[in-house]
Amino acid sequence: MNFSRSTVRPLTRFPFDRPLPRFVPFVKEILRILITRAVVHSGLTTLGRRLFPKRGAVIFYGHRVAADDEGYLEGLRPEWLDDQLAYLTRHYEIIRLSDLLRCFEERRPVPERAAVLTFDDGFRDNLTRALPVLQRHGVTATVFVVTGCAANGALPWPQRLGWLFQRTPRPELVIRLEETGLPPLELPLNTTAARRRACLKVKEFLTRQPRAVRESWLARLSRELEVEPPRDRMLSWKDLRELQVAGWELGAHTVSHPWLARIPFEEARWEMERCRADLREHLGIEHPPFCFPAGSFTPELMRLAKSLGFRSAFQPNPPHRVNTLENSHPFALGRLGLPNAPAVYLEAELDGPLPVVRRLWRRPEASGRRPVDLSLPLPHSPSR
Ligand SMILES: [Zn+2]
Repeated sequence: MNFSRSTVRPLTRFPFDRPLPRFVPFVKEILRILITRAVVHSGLTTLGRRLFPKRGAVIFYGHRVAADDEGYLEGLRPEWLDDQLAYLTRHYEIIRLSDLLRCFEERRPVPERAAVLTFDDGFRDNLTRALPVLQRHGVTATVFVVTGCAANGALPWPQRLGWLFQRTPRPELVIRLEETGLPPLELPLNTTAARRRACLKVKEFLTRQPRAVRESWLARLSRELEVEPPRDRMLSWKDLRELQVAGWELGAHTVSHPWLARIPFEEARWEMERCRADLREHLGIEHPPFCFPAGSFTPELMRLAKSLGFRSAFQPNPPHRVNTLENSHPFALGRLGLPNAPAVYLEAELDGPLPVVRRLWRRPEASGRRPVDLSLPLPHSPSR
């Protein structure tokens, strides 16, 4: 069993493993605030909107809508979401994901300055906190549902793991791996940073485990860390139907939120097929859009998503962020995270010059990215 150093980008913004000097995050944050405000107040974003209008759709994503970071997953404060929507509805037209997909399917141009809202995982605060805010602005969103969580109320496993490490009264965790003959792994939990490091180490290990093994580890950790995670944070099937009635759309995000590219192909297939069947059975959705948990995908999995009857999928790290008929297709859609910050940050990121500067800076890496080619056959896929 390999508890090697994490190479996966965590779901939170935490800079991990090699702690930076304490003042660095503060200096970075102050610089970020100053640059962002300067960009907006100097009129650069107004100029950006006029000179470089978005000739397509920007798809945004968020997770929780709450003013905390339960399970090390920061929520977006409802008041900031409200501010951001005020900005978006003033300068963009918020459309439904299905409207955007119809443009691709019927080869009609994507509306200019369009925006689509999505939330991943299916947290209950999407109904209790986000829905009223979106209703005030007269817009809707799409929620990508982890169907196992909708069924049993449990947090998606990365947040469940985070919850255990965040709340444990234990000063350290000793993991004995009897079957490997390796010495016990000792993880100190005496500081906030140590808890996060321990959590990320265990998480990295669990991303590579099949569902049953992962679940048995989580049960064992729950006992050893003496914490019982909550079961009232996720949208139930009834809650999801309520969102449907309110005009929201629902998509697929697997059964148990695995890193699909890291587990056996057949298990990944089961996660996708079962999730689609759950959405059909409980919500009557035939061809839902699909979203890869943690952005973990391969071109083969993307082609599998198409062959299993999903309507679309997001391509993590695509070469574009404004989706048009020319640069994208329903299985190569790019998304942008809603910042957990006041609207001024969204404005600077969306319409300011910083992304262009960043793109030029990272050009060699960015230029290697292409939309996934769906024409190639699946390497491991049995005929169907
Ligand atoms: Zn997710």
